[in-house]
Amino acid sequence: MAKQTPMMKQYLSIKEAYKDAFLFFRLGDFYELFFDDAVQAARELEITLTKRDSGSPNPIPMCGVPYHSAENYIKTLIEKGYKVAICEQVEDPKTAKGVVKREVIQLITPGTVMEKTMLNEKENNYIASLSHFDTSYVLVYSDLSTGENQLVVIEDGWDGVIHELYNQPIKEIVVSSQLPEDLQKQLKSRLHVTLSYQDEVTFNAEYRNLCENLHDEKLLTAFSRLLNYIQHTQKRSLGHMQQAKVIALQHHLSLDMYSKRNLELTETLIKKEKYGSLLWVLDKTVTAMGSRMLKKWLERPLLNAREIEKRLNIVEGFYSQFMERDELRETLKSVYDLERLAGRIAFGNVNARDLQQLKSSLQKIPALKQLLLQFSQPEMRQLAKQIYIDPKIVDILQTSIVEDPPISIKEGGIIKDGYNEQLDTYRDASRNGKQWIAELEQKEKQATNIKSLKIGYNRVFGYYIEVTKANLHLLPEGRYERKQTLTNAERYITPELKEKEQLILEAEEKSVELEYQLFIEIREQMKTYIPELQRLAEVVSYVDVLQGFATVSESNNYVRPTFDRKKLRIKQSRHPVIEQVMDDGTFVPNDIALDEHSHILLITGPNMSGKSTYMRQLALTVIMGQIGCFVPCESAQLLIFDQIFTRIGAADDLVAGQSTFMVEMLEANHAIANATEQSLILFDEIGRGTSTYDGMALAQAIIEYIHNHIQAKTLFSTHYHELTDLANTLPNLKNIHVRAEEHEGNVVFLHQIKDGPADQSYGIHVAKLANLPSSLITRASKILMELEGTSQSEAETKAEQAASTEQTGQLSFFTEEKQQHQPVSKSNNHDDKVIQELKDLDLFTLTPLDAMNVLYQLQKKARK
Ligand code: ADP
Ligand code: MG
Repeated sequence: MAKQTPMMKQYLSIKEAYKDAFLFFRLGDFYELFFDDAVQAARELEITLTKRDSGSPNPIPMCGVPYHSAENYIKTLIEKGYKVAICEQVEDPKTAKGVVKREVIQLITPGTVMEKTMLNEKENNYIASLSHFDTSYVLVYSDLSTGENQLVVIEDGWDGVIHELYNQPIKEIVVSSQLPEDLQKQLKSRLHVTLSYQDEVTFNAEYRNLCENLHDEKLLTAFSRLLNYIQHTQKRSLGHMQQAKVIALQHHLSLDMYSKRNLELTETLIKKEKYGSLLWVLDKTVTAMGSRMLKKWLERPLLNAREIEKRLNIVEGFYSQFMERDELRETLKSVYDLERLAGRIAFGNVNARDLQQLKSSLQKIPALKQLLLQFSQPEMRQLAKQIYIDPKIVDILQTSIVEDPPISIKEGGIIKDGYNEQLDTYRDASRNGKQWIAELEQKEKQATNIKSLKIGYNRVFGYYIEVTKANLHLLPEGRYERKQTLTNAERYITPELKEKEQLILEAEEKSVELEYQLFIEIREQMKTYIPELQRLAEVVSYVDVLQGFATVSESNNYVRPTFDRKKLRIKQSRHPVIEQVMDDGTFVPNDIALDEHSHILLITGPNMSGKSTYMRQLALTVIMGQIGCFVPCESAQLLIFDQIFTRIGAADDLVAGQSTFMVEMLEANHAIANATEQSLILFDEIGRGTSTYDGMALAQAIIEYIHNHIQAKTLFSTHYHELTDLANTLPNLKNIHVRAEEHEGNVVFLHQIKDGPADQSYGIHVAKLANLPSSLITRASKILMELEGTSQSEAETKAEQAASTEQTGQLSFFTEEKQQHQPVSKSNNHDDKVIQELKDLDLFTLTPLDAMNVLYQLQKKARK
């Protein structure tokens, strides 16, 4: 490499330590990027790439962003998953000898951002760490914006890690550099997170208070990996970090990755939006804290009946006293995000407006407590007891910060009069000075008889007396000193005026400085209250989520479920999301019954009749019950399930390189390997992704296995009609079907679930609904009739050949060979002729009218 200037040497030595980040190198009013950083940043940020030393043989690629607008550029990079190292000049360029000293003052990463504009207020922003031990993995989640820390031990291998991490709002994950490459790749590609490395895992005594409850060496090591990383990169106070909570997975309903995705709990499968998810329906929280807590609950429903009943009791209270609930909602609305405020206090980046918000939020706390006391449930009283905050905090903020402070904390106007004597003296001095000037203006007007005479101020000249040119003749010669001439006025000063000016400016400067100091003191004082604020935030969020459950339960007509050990009975069950997007009253409710004698329901019925909907609504109802919400039906006696497994829809995990059928088998395998008698399995049209016989054989084997070995409660929908015979051999399997009727050649969906198997398949009718050309539909119906003429036994003998044919979907049961010997092939020849004619047409020589004629002829032939 060519010889570098001293500054470039400095750049390169700093960059060496931040290889995986964009280095924003401060040069005057710009942050500059060089070399590969510049090339990549220019592309990502759509800014111009230039060259440094363009005359030299090896010019250096370079680009830059203005210092004052850097935040948006940084935000863009962080959102794309990159890291940005901010390198500042750390000495005054005027006094520096040689190259100005520079240092990285902060490494901004997706998992460590604190800036309000870079955070989604309704979602946690986790940085996680992953540590591998002999037989387990330990995951740690930390949200720097709220101070929350959680630890999860995964005993079931790498798969368990991916299932656990999936759908968590994780932006960055810290791993050991020894983690195998392919696993690192999986983290990046399947979870879309930024990877970071930390090999130092020794426990630092500074963290002691965060780890008091951790007695396992593994947990300490895992937590240390994350804390060391944060400490090394952030170089800031971690004063608001809370004690680590160990999440016992066995205390929560476990949802594997496929179920989280398929059931669209927090986002929809395809669009990845909240709209259309269960969260979208249930989120009637009014605070951002509550919204975040609800999302966490949906990720981890409960297993403990007492805990569930406690939540339900509170929801019932909120449900029945809606006037009080309404008032409570109003009160909660004016409580700001205490959790994140506490985080920003710790990081030292709150301004006076934030503290003002803190104050007004805390002022609502006594009212909140009173409101809770108006409910009759003992649980409410318990909650009210936990709602407490030291009145001293409000006192301090009340006496110190003005009602409507500016955003900047460096320009004064923040602190109230009477808070600090010294500040009051400065302010008096400045006010008195200004008063004196106002009086001077009056006096001079009278003395000179110039009504338009005025005293003004600007930054360059300070205070001046201004007289318009038209009035100059009235001004006695030598009364003032001339300072500046404008087109239509003259500006003057007097020694007295300048003396006062000096006093005023000095007082103002000092008071601004003092205000800043006072503000920092107040902010520091607030730090001591952080644990208290966090505790309060937790209770407030809890109240908010549960009032939200009551609100949605009332507006959507949900009922309180009960729990049983053996029998599940839901009367008139509905799908909580679909009923919301349909017109009122058009969703058809259905009963669901499962117990030890019928623990597998085999569901048949035409496409589009509502099989998938029925299955999903059961899973969603179960989850709603186990997070403590009322459920969409007339009455519900539920079981407490330990796990839910799903195989629904055709979701390709192409990013992970898995085809539909592979995903299908992985999902099925995951369920079969892990389900227990207490689990719920939903298998929707399994075996569809392969050829008919393969698929049917697999489906049957899976059902038998579940029936005989697992006995999990299972809903199994299928288009393989033949499977309904299984009811003859499997005593605990029950056939049900979705009713559809044929009306004048069209299928009418009634969406009603009935006992017994469905009597026919309606695939072609659905194709009709989808508006396929009518000639095509007629043709398909004809083929179907021909095919149905072929005997089933004949088809069966062809099973082996069939296993190698392509998927045939709904039309079921025939071999390709067969098709060719049917009249089908004749008509294919005929069709081929039409197609050939079509191909031979020279469109450019046809007039529109000719084209119409040709088309008419072709259609006539095709319909023959
Ligand atoms: P299948 O799985 O049998 O092909 P789906 O469950 O996907 O059918 O349902 C197809 C469509 O039918 C749904 O998108 C919904 O609009 C409608 N549907 C399903 N169940 C009901 C119901 N119980 N009441 C009203 N409409 C329903
Ligand atoms: Mg379906």
